[in-house]
Amino acid sequence: MEQNLPTEFDPELLARRDALVEGRALISQFARVVAALASEQGEIWASLRFFAHGRLVGVKGQVSGWGMLRCERCVQPYRWEFEFAVNSGFVFTEEQAERLADGVEPVFKDDRGRVQLVGLLEDELLLAMPLIGRHPGGECMAEIAPYLGEEEAAPNNALANALAALKNGNPPRQH
Ligand SMILES: [Zn+2]
Repeated sequence: MEQNLPTEFDPELLARRDALVEGRALISQFARVVAALASEQGEIWASLRFFAHGRLVGVKGQVSGWGMLRCERCVQPYRWEFEFAVNSGFVFTEEQAERLADGVEPVFKDDRGRVQLVGLLEDELLLAMPLIGRHPGGECMAEIAPYLGEEEAAPNNALANALAALKNGNPPRQH
């Protein structure tokens, strides 16, 4: 799974071989996705099986990965982890796209019959993204802070204790 995914595919050729294409890509390769993220950090892993079924040439597989989203409550970035299935059919025309079965996403081939990695996965990545970025439950400071009350001072107490230990000649152990 550590090799890079190709940036371009020949679906017909891969389907003839029943090819399984596995690898990673940087999320920064997906410009429209990165535009919605808090940073360019992140990567994806994909396992894609190309197949031909009658006249349909398609791909099925799994995609997972992570990127940094911004939490709309506390405005801090957080790690967004995603996983979704891919079920796509390759087409040249809108007409062919309309004939695909329900649940099969059309992916348009270029003049040479090729498909870009970005064209194959970018829409799916955007769909997997939450409409409103939010820290998972319990991890958001905006959620936790109002309830901290006096406990909010805990880290400062720890610091005060460390300072007191220093003054008493008991410096914290160095590693
Ligand atoms: Zn948050």
